[in-house]
Amino acid sequence: MALFIDEAECISCGDCEPVCPTNSITEGVIVFEIDKKTCTECQEDFDEPECVRVCPIDNCILPLES
Ligand code: SF4
Ligand code: SF4
Repeated sequence: MALFIDEAECISCGDCEPVCPTNSITEGVIVFEIDKKTCTECQEDFDEPECVRVCPIDNCILPLES
């Protein structure tokens, strides 16, 4: 259970990085990235994913199909 950042949409604004309660977001080589091993989709901390709430781009952060 994790989200991922669509590299075609992310503008690397960095707004998502500080709000992640599990510190799963880092600046990657191309755009920001979510560590799928530690992302909880914020289920224990918030009613909705914090990264999605603050991201200025629609459909930039999406569920990871696994
Ligand atoms: S959904 Fe929550 S835990 Fe996962 S990357 Fe976004 S802010 Fe972090
Ligand atoms: S908030 Fe959205 S656009 Fe900004 S770095 Fe994070 S994923 Fe990319």
